[in-house]
Amino acid sequence: MRLQGVLDDVLDEVGPLVGNGVPALSIPALRHVDVNRVGIAVATVDGRVHGAGAWSEPFSIQSVSKLFALALVFAHDGEALWKRVQRQPSSLRYDALIQLDLDCGIPRNPFVNAGALAVVDRLLTLRGDAGAAVVAFLRAESGNPDIGFDPTVAASEQGVSHRNAAAAHLMAAHGNLDQGIDDVLTHYIHQCAIAASCADLARAGLFLARAGRRNDGERLLTGLQTRRLNSILLTCGTYDAAGDVAYHVGLPAKSGIGGGVLAIVPGRGAVCAWSPGLDEAGNSIAAMAALHHFSEATGWSVF
Ligand code: GLU
Repeated sequence: MRLQGVLDDVLDEVGPLVGNGVPALSIPALRHVDVNRVGIAVATVDGRVHGAGAWSEPFSIQSVSKLFALALVFAHDGEALWKRVQRQPSSLRYDALIQLDLDCGIPRNPFVNAGALAVVDRLLTLRGDAGAAVVAFLRAESGNPDIGFDPTVAASEQGVSHRNAAAAHLMAAHGNLDQGIDDVLTHYIHQCAIAASCADLARAGLFLARAGRRNDGERLLTGLQTRRLNSILLTCGTYDAAGDVAYHVGLPAKSGIGGGVLAIVPGRGAVCAWSPGLDEAGNSIAAMAALHHFSEATGWSVF
């Protein structure tokens, strides 16, 4: 299959959708991102990378970062992690607080904000500098030493992160936070403010297509852990739209309000699409459509 031709066709197909939706409004620095940008990259398990559009342009990865933090913690803690966070889809927004209180401070899953805070808390305990651990992982896997935090985005979110602060306080009140609330929040916000491109993220996601093996051959996760992480991506990785994404795309995926979506094709590769215009659930309209066309054109699906 000529993947380059598929990617070019996919971008032609989604052209009319580019510019639809709104950029992330909750983070002031992201409100003025150009919604007309679009890119897609695919990295295959043999190490090849193809791309189309703005596939090498860095963007704010936001919640896509949660998948890498989770992999680092799951690799160390294994099943013990599930005492701190559940694995259930949430029917409420990713920053909801009501459910967290009802569930006694145990977040619904590692991809809602509260769940990601629990993961960052654990990564801080394990590694000292949680944000730096995620950046180091992304640099190593993508081969791009320039990946780092966007300080403007981090400072902008830090000033308005009231709901995340409230979630951290609730978790602390329920005894589900080991580190200081301010430290956890700061590392979480920095992790979300990492800037990377579609090509970087597709390369960095390959370990999930390769049964847990990193690009240097070292094992991060066991094959079983990789299947489990992919199953959480499928059921919880795209906000409240996970059912629709399973239906239309059929791949485990993680989206972020920066407009990026990283999807995993077990045994074959990873594909990342980006366009900043979001729908009501918080998913990129054009990037999701691109993944839909990509999976139809390639037949790549877990179903
Ligand atoms: N930093 C954002 C927040 O905490 C991430 C949201 C997202 O991408 O889902 O709200």
